[in-house]
Amino acid sequence: MRIGVDIDGVVSDSYRAWVRELNGHFGTNILELKNYDMHLDFGVSWEAMGKYFDDNVAHLFDIPHPVAGAKEGIDKLIREGHEVVYVTARSLEEEKYTVRWLEKYKIPYEHILFTSFQCKVEYALHWKLEIFLEDYLGNAQAISEAGIPVLLLDASYNKGELPSGITRCQDWHEIIKEIRERSSYPKSASI
Ligand SMILES: [Mg+2]
Repeated sequence: MRIGVDIDGVVSDSYRAWVRELNGHFGTNILELKNYDMHLDFGVSWEAMGKYFDDNVAHLFDIPHPVAGAKEGIDKLIREGHEVVYVTARSLEEEKYTVRWLEKYKIPYEHILFTSFQCKVEYALHWKLEIFLEDYLGNAQAISEAGIPVLLLDASYNKGELPSGITRCQDWHEIIKEIRERSSYPKSASI
């Protein structure tokens, strides 16, 4: 299958690292994000949050560790014949930080689409993605409404009921299991 893979919150454990940095910067003590739009949790404007990210982009894109199991999961998907297309809300100006980070953790990449916060649906349709891994509920809903099934990696900011086209996965182990069930992977093979 050709699989769309979001980066922040799915491959890069970005929010954990960013919340720590933002607490230091804004003098807050947020432990868990309730909103994907972080400025709401931190009680600052979208602009103030955007400026902080613009001013510290190289650092902020360098510090996260990979999400547990993400590198191994992507290695497995590629080994099992799937094609991975990263679709990120990051901008093309942030390509060098993104590539540097993927290389740092030896996470394979071929295609990375930078949407600059534009809707991911057009990219997903244009690239004929057959399934999509995402952590942001807004994207997940839009992509599934376009007919592409979504696996939503569980997070504190995406709780709640899901429509039928979206399947919640607790971790990368469940993501791999779901993809194997939907593809022709031999059922007897071990995970
Ligand atoms: Mg994300």
